[in-house]
Amino acid sequence: AWPLKRILANPAAFQKSVDLRQCKLYKSYSIADLVELHDQLQAAKHTRQLAATERNRLLKQVKGSISTKDSLQGELLTQSKALKEKMAVVDEQVSALESEFNLLLDTVPNLIEPSAARIDGEFEQLKILNERPISADQSRDHVTIGSKLGLLDIASASRVSGHGSYYLTGDGALLEQALVQYALKKCRDAGFTMVSPPSLVRQEFTNACGFKPRDSNNEVQVYSVYGGGGPNADPMCLAGTAEIPLAGLEAHKTIDFRGLTTLRKAGVSRSFRAEAGARGADTRGLYRVHEFTKVEMFVWCRPDIEASQEAIQNLLSIQQSIVNDLELTARVINIGPTDLGAPAYQKYDIEAWMPGRGSWGEISSTSNCLDFQSRRLHTKDTNGEFVHTLNGTALAVPRVIVALIENGWDGKGVRVPKALHNWMPEYISL
Ligand code: AMP
Repeated sequence: AWPLKRILANPAAFQKSVDLRQCKLYKSYSIADLVELHDQLQAAKHTRQLAATERNRLLKQVKGSISTKDSLQGELLTQSKALKEKMAVVDEQVSALESEFNLLLDTVPNLIEPSAARIDGEFEQLKILNERPISADQSRDHVTIGSKLGLLDIASASRVSGHGSYYLTGDGALLEQALVQYALKKCRDAGFTMVSPPSLVRQEFTNACGFKPRDSNNEVQVYSVYGGGGPNADPMCLAGTAEIPLAGLEAHKTIDFRGLTTLRKAGVSRSFRAEAGARGADTRGLYRVHEFTKVEMFVWCRPDIEASQEAIQNLLSIQQSIVNDLELTARVINIGPTDLGAPAYQKYDIEAWMPGRGSWGEISSTSNCLDFQSRRLHTKDTNGEFVHTLNGTALAVPRVIVALIENGWDGKGVRVPKALHNWMPEYISL
């Protein structure tokens, strides 16, 4: 998984990342324990090697011995047998140490970008876009307005699919398609190739991208699906985001950047979230649901830190341009270490103002994972180096609908931003 060399060369930097993130390594081990395990493993392998060499020497001696004096041969064979037994014991030690070492190595998070590492708290606010706040006002609640205008139906969805589901209906369903078409055009204009990816992915890809079946509170985050390949088949997951199948598209491949710095693809898909621990106001209406449509940007970048830092700024500027087009008031935040997630070196979120909810709500996120994912997915460039990967939300439909309804409501209907007029009417009313 990780470039062990890099950890061994700078264990303090990795320990600092673990400490700042307040994350737990496997069995609460430390980076010093990882180094110690590595030393023990090397020592055990060395012992195994010495025993094997010595045994070969003895066996050669037995074969080459002209004297058939029973006592000498017998003595050599006894020694060789003892060495064989010792090797079996050391083999067991090696495999136990190796498995412990690999499990630990797998939980080591990425390093942290310096400006993010300095953040003391969950995030740092960088700027506000389109500041013209509408005060918090419960009468702007998207569920009340959306139900009144026939844009959504939560009650029926609860009966059919349970809590955290929804029907978009009429202009609500049209709004979803308009948002998707708008976002895809935005991505195509920014040089992204469109992809319609699979939603069922092998668990190994989910893991390689850094998504854990359970979060730090042991709550299930990813849906596992069994059955397709019979009882012994690997469990599949419902992709929580198109990031996973997009990343998988270049797994075990070599990318020829051909003079470019990045390869860019945008996927439109359904995203599935178990959200097992979700509670409270967040679960009202469309804000935190189990299934939603999202256009996701994915970038493979030459393995150069400056290039991938430029690439994340580019993703963030596309996201800001989308917020501007949709005429939303939003804030851009730099995420602090505790909320980064293991794969991310750096992450920016954009939160839109949602007056009906009376709070800011995250509508998009972008991360630079450096080579964390590419090492697990074996994606290299033509020089044999692991590439950098980045991902960013172009448009996650339900929360954008929340923001559009709660901000665009004028007491009679909802004003639709100009950027969407190609695909739907300018105004939604009864
Ligand atoms: P994430 O991949 O978790 O960073 O999420 C990307 C974007 O998807 C977020 O910024 C939200 O807009 C949206 N999103 C994430 N989880 C949910 C959810 N459970 N319900 C609705 N939208 C979500």
